[in-house]
Order: sequence, then C-alpha cells, then structure tokens
Amino acid sequence: FLSHSLQAKMSRPVQARRLEGIDKNIWVEFVKLAATYSKVNLGQGFPDFPAPDFLTEAFSRALGGGSHMLHQYTRAFGHPPLVKVLAQFFEKLLGRDLDPMTNVMVTVGAYQALFCCFQALVDEGDEVIIIEPFFDCYEPMVKMAGGTPVFVPLRPNPPKDGKLMSSADWQLDPAELASKFSERTKAIVLNSPNNPLGKVFSRGELGLIAELCVKHDVLCISDEVYEWLVYDGKQHIRIASLEGMWERTVIIGSAGKTFSATGWKVGWVVGPDRLLKHLRTVHQNSVYHCATIAQEAVAQGFQRELMLYGKPESYFVQLPKELQQKRDWLVQSLDAVGMKPIIPEGTYFLVADISQFKSDVPDVPNSDEPYDHRFAKWMVKNKGLAAIPLSAFYSEAHKNNYTNFIRFCFAKEEATLKAANEILQKWKQEKTS
Ligand code: PMP
Repeated sequence: FLSHSLQAKMSRPVQARRLEGIDKNIWVEFVKLAATYSKVNLGQGFPDFPAPDFLTEAFSRALGGGSHMLHQYTRAFGHPPLVKVLAQFFEKLLGRDLDPMTNVMVTVGAYQALFCCFQALVDEGDEVIIIEPFFDCYEPMVKMAGGTPVFVPLRPNPPKDGKLMSSADWQLDPAELASKFSERTKAIVLNSPNNPLGKVFSRGELGLIAELCVKHDVLCISDEVYEWLVYDGKQHIRIASLEGMWERTVIIGSAGKTFSATGWKVGWVVGPDRLLKHLRTVHQNSVYHCATIAQEAVAQGFQRELMLYGKPESYFVQLPKELQQKRDWLVQSLDAVGMKPIIPEGTYFLVADISQFKSDVPDVPNSDEPYDHRFAKWMVKNKGLAAIPLSAFYSEAHKNNYTNFIRFCFAKEEATLKAANEILQKWKQEKTS
C-alpha cells in the first residue's frame, strides 16, 4: 500500500540537466564490437607492444624496493619528483623558467586534465571553438561545463597530381576560423598532432590561431598528448611558445601516449599560475590525487629522457622512428587494396577513404546510420578487422559531410599489422575473383 506514493516519487528525473544529450559514447559500442568480433583490432588507440623496460622496471622498483611511503598519498597537485622533472623538461622545450609547484599539475591521464580545464575555465554561455575532426570528449566536456561548442572544420584539399593525400592537405579556412571568434568566445581547443587525422599544425597555422586568441583575449587549451609522435623530420611546435600565448595557454600531456603505457593514466598540465590555480581548485574538489607509484615511475622515465634528450637512445627519438615504419606498412597495405590512406604527419592514427567499398556493404533502407558506421560494423563482423568511423569525430551538424572515412591505429606489433595486411589482401582477391 506504500507502493503508490513510492512510484510517484520515482517519476522525478534523476539525472542532472548537464547530462542531457551527452549520454552516447562511440567507444562503448565499438570497443564491445571489437572485443566480440575482431581478429585484428586497429580500433581504439593503444599500443599492443610493451612499454619500454626502463619504465616498467622503474614501476617494479617503486613497488618493491622503494620507500613504503610510495604506497600512500603524495602531494595532491603532483608527486614532487614528477612535477620537478616535468618543469625541467618543459623549461627546455619552452625556453622559459617554470615553477614545478605552480606551473605544473599531475592529473589522471590527459582526460582529467581536459576535464579540469573545461570545469575551471568555461562558464554558462561561454563559447568554445573546437576544430573538426576532434577527439570526441571535447564536446560533452564543454557542454557539461555549461558552455557552447562552436565547430570549425579542417577542409580537405586533395592534391591535383593523383598522389595520396596527406594530413597536411586538411586545412583551416582562415576567414572561416576568424568568423567563429567573438566576445562570447572563451577558449579554443587545439589538438596538434591531431587525433584522428594525424595533422601536425604548421607554424603558419598556429600563428593564425595565436593571433586570433590574442586579438579576442581567448584562452587556448592545447592537447599535445602526441607531441613526440611526429614523422618525416617534421617538428611539433608548441603554441605556448608563440608571442602572447604562454599566459593564455594550458598545455596537456599524457604519459600513456608518451611512454606507451595508456593504462597507467598519468597526465599533466603545464601553464601559467593564473590559469593553473583554477585547475587546482577543480582537482582538489574532485579527484584530489593520482596514484603515487605510477607518478614515481613516470618521474624516473622523464629523468632518463632528460639525460638522453635528443640522443639516438632516447625513447622520444626511437618511438617515432618505429612508428613511422609501422605507418608506412599500413599505408602500403591500404593503398594496395584501394582503401586510400591519408598519410598522417603525426600521432599513431591513420584515416583511410572507404568510398570505393560501398558495394561491399549491404544497404539498410531507411536507416540514418552514416555509411562509415555501417562499414566499420560490417568490416569487424565480416572481416574481423576493427577500425573507428571518422564521423564519430564530428559534431552532429557536420558528421554527415564526412562519412567516407575510417580511422585505424597503427601502434601495433609487426605481427598485428601483417595480420591486417592478410585480411585486406584476401578481401581484395575475393572482390576481383
Ligand atoms: N587527448 C587526445 C587527443 C587523445 O587521443 C587521448 C587518448 N585517446 C587523450 C587526450 C586522453 O589521454 P589519457 O589516456 O592520458 O587520458
């Protein structure tokens, strides 16, 4: 007899308004599909090769032989050895003095660094410019903070000479970019090297963004998690090093990407105290603290890299060399079967054009599911090869303009990439026979 009143109470919505419209997540669906069907998983972005020995050994030392205090809480805003070495490292990269206690903060992966930025810097009604295609969590994170994402696409300009496209052929239209800045704009999110395209923004492109940020007093949230993964002698340029930008930029990094240990979830932010002090407020009222042992091991990894900086033995020199080779293998495999790759200048992702494969995938009448979604699902179920549809990296308004591409991750063992090549070759033979 109590049930009537209890049911009446349960009819009230339980979720906060800030969650409206952000409940869908591409990874939940595609990670599950890959786990169920894939023989070769080039979907989600993580290496299937081991993290370097010096890093895992540092972790073992911290766990076993190190101080028992490494099992306890450490400093909330970052384990002192880690913030110190990060400050030293970024002093070198940025050519300016840094205070480890106020210019660096450690986070639970770059993901939490992003969350802190949006919560700390974006208010109700603020606009945040996001360059498409983008790492998908930027949009819901801006919305959760009460902000409005404003999208501006990189526009592809295919080379006329019939050569393969490069991620450098995807560019911002300067007038279009400028038109998105207004007095409502609080921040722009920059991700160079960019996931999913692998684009490494040039000095000219960064200069344009910097000029607009300075002109309109806009902040820059600079997601640089792939900073070491740059190929063909290209250089990663840090926007914070451009004139007028240090004071308005938060640099975000990730030990997961830097040391091939995505499961450790150690990330960081580097920036001026005037911005970081507000990120610390979010951090101390949410996560508060990150795993001490992982921070200790990452600190030792950076100490090694600081010593070997620029030398051939440096992991930051070796990893991109190995990945460039892997990129080239995957480019060849895809090109050979007509799945035209867009050659990435950085990251461990590669986007390929699947427009020539439309006849392989059965049409679903009256479905509004984009072709790339259907294709990626069909490919993993029928060919055992997992990839991610590119439209997942676009806003709702623009995703239907970019449905002829899928994204592969090539941070994989040689054997994995060979297995992918075999699947593609067999597929091609079936198509031609
Ligand atoms: N930013 C970008 C562009 C990424 O690709 C990723 C991971 N896929 C992250 C941030 C999150 O990094 P982390 O695993 O350190 O949280």
